[in-house]
Amino acid sequence: MKLIFHGAAREVGRSCIEIQTQGDRYLLDAGIKFKEGGFEYPEKVINVPDIDGLIISHAHLDHSGALPLFEHYNIICPVFCTRLTYELTKILLKDSYKIERIRNLHPAYGKVDLKKVDKSMRLVKYDTEYNHRKMKFMLRNAGHVPGSSMILLEAEGKKILYTGDIKLKTTEVVKGAFTDYSDIDVLIIESTYGNRDLPDRQETRKRFLDKVEETVKKGGSALIPVFSLGRAQDVLVMLHEKKFNVPIYMDGMCKKITNKLIGSNDPYVNNKEILEEMYDKRVERIGSERHRKRAMQRQGIFVVTSGMLQGGPVLAYLKYMWHESKNAILLTGYQCKRTNGRHLLEEGFIYIDGWRTEVKCFVDKFDFSGHADKNDLMEIIRRVNPKKIIFQHGDEEAVDEMKKWAEQQGKWIVYAPAIGDEIEI
Ligand SMILES: [Zn+2]
Repeated sequence: MKLIFHGAAREVGRSCIEIQTQGDRYLLDAGIKFKEGGFEYPEKVINVPDIDGLIISHAHLDHSGALPLFEHYNIICPVFCTRLTYELTKILLKDSYKIERIRNLHPAYGKVDLKKVDKSMRLVKYDTEYNHRKMKFMLRNAGHVPGSSMILLEAEGKKILYTGDIKLKTTEVVKGAFTDYSDIDVLIIESTYGNRDLPDRQETRKRFLDKVEETVKKGGSALIPVFSLGRAQDVLVMLHEKKFNVPIYMDGMCKKITNKLIGSNDPYVNNKEILEEMYDKRVERIGSERHRKRAMQRQGIFVVTSGMLQGGPVLAYLKYMWHESKNAILLTGYQCKRTNGRHLLEEGFIYIDGWRTEVKCFVDKFDFSGHADKNDLMEIIRRVNPKKIIFQHGDEEAVDEMKKWAEQQGKWIVYAPAIGDEIEI
C-alpha cells in the first residue's frame, strides 16, 4: 500500500492524501490553499476519473474546496462525509464560488460542478463501520469544528488513522476528539500547532469577556471578527455568560451556519440550547444593507465575518468604527501573514477601500483555536500509539519540531513528507 501527498505536506492548506492499494485509489480530503490573488489546488492528482472513493474530514475549504475542481475533471466516485459536513460544505463552496466570481479570481470550475458535488456526496454516520469496495472505514469525532471527523480506514490488513484537523479538549461548540483506538499501523496527524502551546482557554475567555464589558461600559462598541464556522458560535456561547446593556448583532455568513448547527442533530455539537437561545432571543441578526447602516450607528457588540478582516461585512463596520478610541476590535483567532488582521495586529493599520488607514481603536487578539496545541498533539500520539507516524498540515518549523520529538521517543517510525512524496507502508 502506498500513500501520496498531494497537499498540506510541510504547509497548511489544500489537504489531499491518496491511498493506493492493489487496484484501488482513495483520497482523503480535497482542499484548496489561499494565496494572494487566488488559490492553489492539490498537486499531481492524475487520472481523476479513476479514483474509487473520497472521504472529507470536515467542511473548511482547505479540506473541501477542491471538490468542484475534481468534479470538473470528471471524478465519478462517491464522496463520503458526516451530515453536518455535507450541509456546511455546500454553504461554504457556494459562498467561495460567489466571492471568486466577484473578485475575478477565475475559479477553475463552474456552477455546474458545484451541483455535481452535491450529487456525489454520501452521508455517513459517526462511529459506524462502512464498507466500500475493498476497504472499511469509520468516522470518529475530531473535536475541531461541528461535523468534523477523523477517518479510520482499513485495507489490505492495515489500519490507517487520519486526524484531519483535531482538537483534544472540549470547546464551546464541539465535544473533544475521540482517541480510544487500538492497533493503528499508520497515524497521519495534523501539526498546525506543532511548535506552539495555546494559552489556557478559560483564562483567555475571561480576559475576552472582560474586554467586551469594559468597552461597552466606556460607551464604545466591540467589533468581534469571527470565522463563520466554529468561532462565531464559540463567541455566542461565551457572550451568553454575561448580561450586557447594549444589543448583540450578528452579520455575515456566520448567521446561516449558526442556523444550520441549531437545526442539526449532530451528536458532538456542544451547548446547542445556549446557541439556540442566543441566536433566537438575544442576538439581532442583520438582514439588509439598511439594517446594517442603522445598527452601526448604535452602540453594540458586533459579531461579524470574516475573521481575518479580508472580506465580508466586517469591512463596512471597520470603516465606521476605526477612528474612535473608545471602540475595540477583538480578534478571535489566528491571523495569516499579509491579511488585514495581521497588519492591524502587528502594525496598527488596515486597508480600507485601498487606503492604508491607521486604526485608532483598541485592538487585541484572543487565541481561541480549534486545533490541538503541541502538548495535546503529543498526548494524542501517546494515546493512539501507532507503529508509524506521518506529520502533515503544518508549517516547516511546526512539522520539524513534532518529527524531532517523535524520533527522540524512539518508539515509532516517523515521516514528514513534502508535496508529491510517496510513502510505502
Ligand atoms: Zn479546519
